[in-house]
Amino acid sequence: MSNTTSTAPTIGFVSLGCPKNLVDSERILTELRTDGYQVVSSYEGADLVIVNTCGFIEGAVQESLEAIGEALAENGKVIVTGCLGAKENQIREVHPKVLEITGPHSYEQVLKHVHTYAPKPEYNPFTSLVPAQGIKLTPKHYAYLKISEGCNHRCTFCIIPSMRGDLDSRPIGSVLDEAKRLAEAGVKELLVISQDTSAYGVDIKHRTGFWNGQPVKTDMVSLCEQLSSLGVWVRLHYVYPYPHVDNVIPLMAEGKILPYLDIPLQHASPKILKAMKRPGSVERTLERIKRWREICPELTLRSTFIVGFPGETEEDFAMLLDFLSEAKLDRVGCFKYSPVEGATANELDDQVPEDIKEQRFHRFMQLQQQISAQRLQDKIGLTYPVIIDEVDEEGAIGRSMADAPEIDGVVYLNGETSLKTGDIVQVRIENADEYDLWGSVAR
Ligand code: SF4
Repeated sequence: MSNTTSTAPTIGFVSLGCPKNLVDSERILTELRTDGYQVVSSYEGADLVIVNTCGFIEGAVQESLEAIGEALAENGKVIVTGCLGAKENQIREVHPKVLEITGPHSYEQVLKHVHTYAPKPEYNPFTSLVPAQGIKLTPKHYAYLKISEGCNHRCTFCIIPSMRGDLDSRPIGSVLDEAKRLAEAGVKELLVISQDTSAYGVDIKHRTGFWNGQPVKTDMVSLCEQLSSLGVWVRLHYVYPYPHVDNVIPLMAEGKILPYLDIPLQHASPKILKAMKRPGSVERTLERIKRWREICPELTLRSTFIVGFPGETEEDFAMLLDFLSEAKLDRVGCFKYSPVEGATANELDDQVPEDIKEQRFHRFMQLQQQISAQRLQDKIGLTYPVIIDEVDEEGAIGRSMADAPEIDGVVYLNGETSLKTGDIVQVRIENADEYDLWGSVAR
């Protein structure tokens, strides 16, 4: 089990029965992990226990009832799901104290019940890997795939290493098993997340694991290679521009994984990057971006930056604006620096006054909006695959390969009411603003 924060609420989990039931379990576990819960194998001390039951034959019914009894005795707060859950009365007769019962394939309800009966993990924009909206249930057609916990860096504005410890990579076989089950359960897009995706496997010296009876190295490139065999969209988040990232760009150019990189760069002034204790150098980042685009012209680059970090002068800020003008990133998030309790940056001299932070934030956003808008304008008249997220009586809303859910823009398909959530269709882009696109299905 990974070294998750000790303050995270804990969920005891027991899964019984056939592989189909395992798919449900996997989905529930994926969601719990993404939401910030810690899954534990013992009942004692857990905030809640989930028993995923089997009711196929009498033996399985007995085994499930015993598991529920054991969880009630050792913990007391138990929710039941799975095949036996379809026979609620049978469970209630033996175990009236069970909090909630749901049948098979009802992971949404299970997660709702978890949110009701267990304390909610605290949402902190500085430590959470998914947007605040991610706490609401992820729709069935996409899923976050968490590949590691913790981080080996010590960025001065961040408290993750002190909360979650050093990098702790999940075994590659278990990550790929989870991904495969998610794909089999109908997931069409996997969003790979961790604090530092490009560092995957560093802590275990890129040990060779096994998957499908084959040796597979624990590193980002091998992970991407294997994920590409699942026939679903694979999107990479939180990738640092280390040299080996160059090796995933050809996979993007070949269409194996989405041509999308989320690289949190945070600043462009060497002095500020040093004060932040960030890896990498700006010139090399620009060169690298140029090379990546030569290899994969379709590449979408998303990044986040902090303005108003302690010691940031007008000159440092101008470097950041120059970097934006040159890098022409597609999607950019910007935060005004604010101290996080326990972060070492709090002790730095020359804190930037709030009004200057505010002013710089607006200057930054204004420039980036022009760049993003131009990049979207360039898409008008072209055709792209779009995954459908929502359909109502007015039309459908989807995302192109360049748009991650919740954080990037969307593609509006007015009048396209016959599409279904999770469909991937070819769309001709007809219009654009600073964030979103409009188009219709290419027929
Ligand atoms: S890379 Fe830096 S910002 Fe990201 S989790 Fe690690 S310490 Fe925090």
